[in-house]
Amino acid sequence: MIDTKNTGHANMHPIINMLVQLQDLLLIRSEQEAVVSSSRMSQLDSAIQTLRSNLPSETNQLFHKIEKKDLLVIVPISNNVCTGCGLILPVSLVHAVRAGKKLQQCPNCARILYYQNFLPRRVSKKMGGRFTPRRTGIARFSSQELMIPSLKATERDNVIAELAGKMVEEGFVDNGEKLLDEALKREAIMHTGVDNGLAFPHVRGVEGGGLTLALGISRKGIKFDSTERALSHIIFFIVIPTAASVFYLRLLAGLTQSFLKKESRQKLISSESSEALWNTLLKATRTKIK
Ligand SMILES: [Zn+2]
Repeated sequence: MIDTKNTGHANMHPIINMLVQLQDLLLIRSEQEAVVSSSRMSQLDSAIQTLRSNLPSETNQLFHKIEKKDLLVIVPISNNVCTGCGLILPVSLVHAVRAGKKLQQCPNCARILYYQNFLPRRVSKKMGGRFTPRRTGIARFSSQELMIPSLKATERDNVIAELAGKMVEEGFVDNGEKLLDEALKREAIMHTGVDNGLAFPHVRGVEGGGLTLALGISRKGIKFDSTERALSHIIFFIVIPTAASVFYLRLLAGLTQSFLKKESRQKLISSESSEALWNTLLKATRTKIK
């Protein structure tokens, strides 16, 4: 079941709220395409259809027009900047977006703008550790400090809390509470467990910095969907700045492909230290993630 009722924001204009939900569903649909999972497509498509049909026709047309050019149609503003294209917005426009009376578009990229309070922030931290001379592949997005070879938590929400906590603890992201809250909201729309025992819980719209990924292993396995029997053993927790949303889909596809073979998954699962897990991840993703 697709449940979008918890994704909105209390003080948001109802149309903006619907557009944000529609954008979420369209991005989730692209995620499913990236991990080649067709099982949940029809559910998603009907929810997307319902939302579209509830929008005023003018708004629908506008959405459709922008959608034809880009996957990101509606983006939050952050520090007076359009997170879609990076343009510094005129103060009067920022005020109009915050007031939320009329739909406002970025004068540069034409995306619809909205205001969102208290986004978690990616704080600057070097990736790949001190001894990595040049960062390539997965080392651009993660680091040995973000590896958990044996997750303590045994339930989905606690596992997500453990991974988000790791990111905060290691100084990669702030506002851990909001981070966890957003990750669980995303999970409530449609769980992020996929085939082959992988799962990709994530938070979009993180302010600043680049895409960041933590990895946790559960040998026992975690149920990402209470109605399915499949367990997730390899759990990637990813924070995604809005501008990296499209790149994130490529990363998802790369990770899925890297772990299609049971042998590569087994190597991850049997890594006993964060160092071993990190080295295994570097090796396994070398050809698929450049
Ligand atoms: Zn823009």
